[in-house]
Amino acid sequence: VDETVAEDMKKLEENFKGISQKYRLINRIGEGTFSTVYKAEQLDQPYDDDRENQDPETDTDVLPTKRRKFWSGRHTRIVALKKIYVTSSPSRILNELELLHELRNSPHICPLLTAFRHLDQVVAVLPYFRHLDFRLYYRDFLTNDLRHYFLSLFSGLAYVHKAGILHRDIKPTNFLYDHSKKHGVLVDFGLAERQGTDWQACFCQEHKERRRDRFLNSYAVQNLQAQQDLLSPGYPKQDQRPSRRANRAGTRGFRAPEVLLKCTAQTTKIDIWSAGVILLTLLGRRFPFFNSADDIDAMIEIASIFGKKKMQGVAAMHGSVFETNIETIGEKGFTLEKIVLWASCREKDSEQLRPGEIQAVDLLGGLLELDPNKRLSAKQALEHEFFTNPIE
Ligand code: ADP
Ligand code: MG
Repeated sequence: VDETVAEDMKKLEENFKGISQKYRLINRIGEGTFSTVYKAEQLDQPYDDDRENQDPETDTDVLPTKRRKFWSGRHTRIVALKKIYVTSSPSRILNELELLHELRNSPHICPLLTAFRHLDQVVAVLPYFRHLDFRLYYRDFLTNDLRHYFLSLFSGLAYVHKAGILHRDIKPTNFLYDHSKKHGVLVDFGLAERQGTDWQACFCQEHKERRRDRFLNSYAVQNLQAQQDLLSPGYPKQDQRPSRRANRAGTRGFRAPEVLLKCTAQTTKIDIWSAGVILLTLLGRRFPFFNSADDIDAMIEIASIFGKKKMQGVAAMHGSVFETNIETIGEKGFTLEKIVLWASCREKDSEQLRPGEIQAVDLLGGLLELDPNKRLSAKQALEHEFFTNPIE
């Protein structure tokens, strides 16, 4: 553990007396925009297989019997402590904790064990889930590995979506995968929301409170109708058109077209698109697959695959216009099979995809469908032949 990390952990233990009594911090395992995550060992409870006399506040005993069994065979005494930054508004933090609690019954969602608060600081306690860093394995996935990975991911998403919840930030670092167990769990519900959340109302409320909510900054962005302005050099400095407001929260490269186009009625299908980007990454063996600096760049990257015509169709669907004079963007675009072969450097030697990969690419087509209404749901994805009729 390096010095700054040790200092950081010491500070946390000093701030949270309750935590230092119950846990011994081992290391820092994640540092993101919204939180820092530490690996820690639970102290005050001797390991006990039938776990009858455990403190319900701090153990997997808060979970229903079935779920408790699942976690207790694993890392009963090792937990992940997620320190949520104070820049997240209290309602945001509450939202994350509430959703985690609501979703605790799925084996594909990392459950909330308990949470601590000290003034404006909140620490969520989750069972530690062993996983590898995506960057270490994304090049080596065999078709069967893909199957297990996405079986877990879509099972988790089907559960979240059935509850009417959008995760909003599906990406490899928010889906922890254990190769040896062929099992993965969804984490990080920091941006999750219930479908149908009225963002216009939220903006007004937040505005009144003048909260320094980091999320708000990312909302007020110029309307993408400015696509036409790509024809002239640079962007208009004083765009008179009203800016459109919609929730854009998520991660670069994983945002669905309707998020980029600021559609206000976003659905659970935005998570399916992001899952599609992960599948494309694994099939193409390139990470990050998309590397856009902003939303307009992201539209251009998507357009390079799907072509101008389809992009114009989807833009129109969301009340925007898509126009570009970039030469690499053709009218018609490419098939996903071509893209996968190209990405994995196999297109020159007239190499073919294996039958199992062809199945996966067919599934990919249903995930990276520009029209959210036609895009597969998580449940439909699970019914795809890639899962139901597996071939090598
Ligand atoms: P953030 O909002 O900062 O992205 P996350 O909840 O995504 O927070 O956690 C960040 C990282 O911490 C994850 O990518 C993962 O590596 C690690 N992590 C989070 N929860 C767990 C857990 N339960 N078990 C193991 N590692 C975890
Ligand atoms: Mg995260």
